[in-house]
Amino acid sequence: MFDLKQLKQYNILRSEWARLILVVLIAAAMVAVSAIHVIRESVQTVAAAGRHVLVIDPGHGGFDGGAISDDGSKESDINLAIGLRMCALAEFVGLRTVMTRSDDRAKTDYVSYSEHEDLVLRTAIANNTPGAILVSVHQNDFPTGQVSGAQVLYAATPGSESLGKIMHGNLIRLLDPSNRRVAAPAPKSLYITSHVTCPAVLAECGFMSNNFEVEKLNTDSYRGQLALVMVGSVLQYLSDIQTI
Ligand SMILES: [Zn+2]
Repeated sequence: MFDLKQLKQYNILRSEWARLILVVLIAAAMVAVSAIHVIRESVQTVAAAGRHVLVIDPGHGGFDGGAISDDGSKESDINLAIGLRMCALAEFVGLRTVMTRSDDRAKTDYVSYSEHEDLVLRTAIANNTPGAILVSVHQNDFPTGQVSGAQVLYAATPGSESLGKIMHGNLIRLLDPSNRRVAAPAPKSLYITSHVTCPAVLAECGFMSNNFEVEKLNTDSYRGQLALVMVGSVLQYLSDIQTI
């Protein structure tokens, strides 16, 4: 006999989405039990994610190492490592991705390199991607070594503020509860967030000037946790805007 209820359960269990979400749930449990809330919210994004493309922008690269820590770690390397993990995780849960760079190269060559041109090209990638949601990955820097903690800056485009607040809140709640920073509008001087047309945030994951934080940022596990929380936050944002 045909049991509709059973068939429905069977289809749900068999669906790619259910399988992927289950894996993400397990991964989320490795970050913190409360991460499950983020992922549970994200389950509703099943169809919504298909219409969007996560544009991941690992800041700097090539000739531009970004901020350099006391031990010689380059911000550009940390940004890329986190960005590549975000890419793998997003693709794994069915969210399409575009990387502004996927290796240690700037967007312009050595002869013609300019930071401005590099940022113009990255911004164009986001602006030419239909359904783009941009997450630019950076690390912060400060004259003294004591300052630490992630901070998400958001663009002025529609959706950016809510994405920024979701991501910032999750980074703090799940990874750094003592962090007292708040999500903030990106300053006009930041080219990419000032010139994108899509929802966009710039995540400063930590401080290159804080040796303890750099030590964490240089571990695979912490990079994975940051990537998971940021991708989970994008899914949560998609769930919230209910584009299913
Ligand atoms: Zn940077």
